[in-house]
Amino acid sequence: MSDDEIKRLHEATVTVLQEWIERLREESGDGLPEKVTAFRPEIAVHGKYREPCPECGSPVQRIVYASNEANYCSTCQTEGKLLADRALSKLLKGNWPKSLEEMEERRAQAQT
Ligand SMILES: [Zn+2]
Repeated sequence: MSDDEIKRLHEATVTVLQEWIERLREESGDGLPEKVTAFRPEIAVHGKYREPCPECGSPVQRIVYASNEANYCSTCQTEGKLLADRALSKLLKGNWPKSLEEMEERRAQAQT
């Protein structure tokens, strides 16, 4: 990742977190939020690997690292760039696709 990408990712993260702080504050009023869960329908792509992105309909991608999974939309969030994922790299035998279309083709081939 370049410095520019890191900067953009950081800014996007801060913006989204601030939106959520506002949203939860509005919902809970002066009390504490009651049902805080990481999986809410309003959260765009988290936990939605392979489901269509609510913004553009592209399949949500993931990066798996140890036991953590990060989800992202390559169309909306990374300008079509696919981020390297170790598990998938292994599956694709180092033959990393350059586009989402190519990625989907490779995935389909790997599963048959
Ligand atoms: Zn999208």
